[in-house]
Amino acid sequence: MKRREFSKSIVLFGLGAQTGLEPTIGRASEKQQSYYEEPAKKLPARKFDVVVAGGGTAGIFAAMAAARHGAKTMLIESKGYCGGVAVEGGTAIHSFYNLYTGFENCTKRKVVQGIPAEFMDRLTEMGGATGYPEMETGRDYDAVCTAVDTELYKLLAFRMLKEAGVFIAVNTMLADAIMDGGRLKGVITESRSGREAVMADSFVDSTGYGDLCSHAGAQYQVPNDYDSCNSFGFANASIDDYYEFLKSNDAVGQVCRGPRSSEDNKFVRMGAEQLNIPGLMDEARKIGLSLVTTTVRDNYLMYIKCNYKVPGTVIDRDDMAQAEVEIRSRMEKAAGLLRKYVPGFEKAFIARTSPAMVIRRGRQIVCEYDITHEDVINGRHFEDDTFVYGFHDSAPRFQIKDGGTYGIPYRALCVKGVDNLYATGMMITSDRRAHMSTRNTVSCMGQGQAAGTAAALCAKKKIGSRDLKYADLRTQLLKGKVYFES
Ligand SMILES: Cc1cc2nc3c(=O)[nH]c(=O)nc-3n(C[C@H](O)[C@H](O)[C@H](O)COP(=O)(O)OP(=O)(O)OC[C@H]3O[C@@H](n4cnc5c(N)ncnc54)[C@H](O)[C@@H]3O)c2cc1C
Repeated sequence: MKRREFSKSIVLFGLGAQTGLEPTIGRASEKQQSYYEEPAKKLPARKFDVVVAGGGTAGIFAAMAAARHGAKTMLIESKGYCGGVAVEGGTAIHSFYNLYTGFENCTKRKVVQGIPAEFMDRLTEMGGATGYPEMETGRDYDAVCTAVDTELYKLLAFRMLKEAGVFIAVNTMLADAIMDGGRLKGVITESRSGREAVMADSFVDSTGYGDLCSHAGAQYQVPNDYDSCNSFGFANASIDDYYEFLKSNDAVGQVCRGPRSSEDNKFVRMGAEQLNIPGLMDEARKIGLSLVTTTVRDNYLMYIKCNYKVPGTVIDRDDMAQAEVEIRSRMEKAAGLLRKYVPGFEKAFIARTSPAMVIRRGRQIVCEYDITHEDVINGRHFEDDTFVYGFHDSAPRFQIKDGGTYGIPYRALCVKGVDNLYATGMMITSDRRAHMSTRNTVSCMGQGQAAGTAAALCAKKKIGSRDLKYADLRTQLLKGKVYFES
């Protein structure tokens, strides 16, 4: 079957037919012409209370929360460090605060607290984050700019996971699920030590891609509605020079000042607006080069992004392999353009790239509740809120009513059809407009704390996620300093 016909058949018979969205699903294995039957094999097995798959933006907070609640917790992360897209892709961490600037009489509030805020405060103390400086110009809704030192972030993630007593399995791939009807019994991992079975009572999927949910047979769609990206760190390039360049072209957009290389009141975020240099802009557009950057270090731009809409889907190995090849040549072109056009950047070079392309959405997992656009913009709260959030990436077009917050209900994290599995991070929320809020880093972190806490409570009581009493969860979240105000 040709690829186009294959995709079409999924739209007709898959979940997309029910939802009206147009998913495209293509797994390398399903395109195979021939097969090999793997012989059965006895695997070494371990037992934990809670398994968290994926040690990224949401996953580290899920694992810390579960372990702090006394659960014997294993964190499975395919890379050699933790942090995920927060240390690989984005330009800033959005946002611990509500969007207060666009509303009269609206107070600025730190609406995401708990373990994520504890983490960010510790990182700031270490000199690894800007804290919460306010934007001066540019996107006026984008009121706070929290930028991080990616390496100190990774270090602190390990430190806090260890302090909580999490068993950290990095360089380990979550490869399969062991099911018992609608209940997840365990997972299969792959590492240089071989394949292992890991049994547990409760599970959290924080893989971004929804790998565990997919292995567990959960329903999902692949909306394919965002650009993917690789971003690079540009050394020998000063944000002060970038500012002078934009100023001389009357194109200064976003500006934020904060602590940089231990000095206060320095530029930490800079973006171009209506930059009219045809040679640069035409080429930049062709390679998806974004002209917004963030940094916490002198002579180093942390993130220069090249966006790229992956032809096919981001869950197809072969589509992604081609995209990885393409994006590296785009990044080299981007570096060349910046060297050529920005005075002071002549000797700049790519000092870091993400180990793999980062995605804004892979599988969208069907959960017990799907947060809607109306829920977000109307600032809706639910009887099973697990925390609140107040940022929207599409502001000022879409903002939360009166600069307040909306709730992330417990049901939005419970994977439909699987008794003891939570989904967190970019894989929840089908409506793209609502997802433009829920997918942001600090929302993912809050989801992590909520799901990890719930998983620990369920594991202790040996119950499924639907049998957990909300009052018990709420009590523990409050003890974990989670904020709930509307
Ligand atoms: C280019 C880009 C720019 C962005 N800019 C911003 C921004 O400025 N501000 C903002 O707030 N948000 C931004 N976002 C959104 C935000 O960063 C992400 O939505 C969020 O970080 C996703 O978190 P997550 O926990 O769902 O996934 P991730 O952080 O990707 O975590 C998933 C983790 O799981 C691991 N993993 C995956 N599969 C497996 C497996 N099978 N086995 C083991 N481990 C596995 C991965 O290695 C990773 O560590 C941006 C996103 C992108 C892509």
